Amino acid sequence: MSTGEAEQPVVVTERQAPIAIVRMNRPEYRNAQNSAMTFALDDAFGELAADDAIKVIILAGAGEHFSAGHDIGSPGRDVDRSFPRRASMWWDHVGRTGADRRIAREQEVYLGMCRRWRELPKPMIAMVHGACVAGALMLAWSCDLIVASDDAYFADPVVRMGIPGVEYFAHPWVMGPRFAKELLFTGERFGAQRALSLGMVNRVVPRAELEAETLALAAKIAEMPQFGLALTKLAVNQAEDLMGLRSGIDAAFGLHHVAHAHNAETSSDHLAGHDARTMRDAEREA
Ligand code: ZN
Repeated sequence: MSTGEAEQPVVVTERQAPIAIVRMNRPEYRNAQNSAMTFALDDAFGELAADDAIKVIILAGAGEHFSAGHDIGSPGRDVDRSFPRRASMWWDHVGRTGADRRIAREQEVYLGMCRRWRELPKPMIAMVHGACVAGALMLAWSCDLIVASDDAYFADPVVRMGIPGVEYFAHPWVMGPRFAKELLFTGERFGAQRALSLGMVNRVVPRAELEAETLALAAKIAEMPQFGLALTKLAVNQAEDLMGLRSGIDAAFGLHHVAHAHNAETSSDHLAGHDARTMRDAEREA
């Protein structure tokens, strides 16, 4: 596959036991997530889950941004590529058509993967700087804690495509229903301080101190017993699911795919003809 980025790994793991940093590494595309990246993240998290020396995992982005979301326009976009499935036992999307293809793919690389990562039995901290847009929100929300730099910004602009939010529809649970609607209805960016006031992130720190502060928080957590941390994470996740997170996401995933199907039926494609460039242009004009 010729993507112009064949030499560099799309995800890099740095071990500083008992902490590991997993860094998305497509900085020239603002760490847009293609399937190569989601599967590489899944590999990295799986290895660290099994590594007894590692107690806390930090998810970060290389370069100027955490992540611009799903890859809808880079040369490395790989929607037609098969990968061995791990998050679900559904069939491969390649060779399928219509909703059959879209649901098979998105259930694996987006919804299924995010759920697997959320359930990883070690505390995970998202270390967010710069853009954290659309599909990037799903990565940050799958982590247990979020530390943001003061220049971080967040947005889910996919309503512009006629789609009711990204696949892992945690919005009403992570920021409250009122602001979830504002975020989705307007598609506007909001900054780290607003995210903090909504309870969506844990801490906001100066950009220059982001890594040191996140590592310090991870080190403090790592002093706790590993099994105790795993049970605590499970207890809070179960409480969140009892508050409707899991079934709410399932319900929204169905609506998400109604929107993809509607777009495919009435416009040029399932994204209503949008790609990374038109979405950027629309935001500039807004
Ligand atoms: Zn989708």
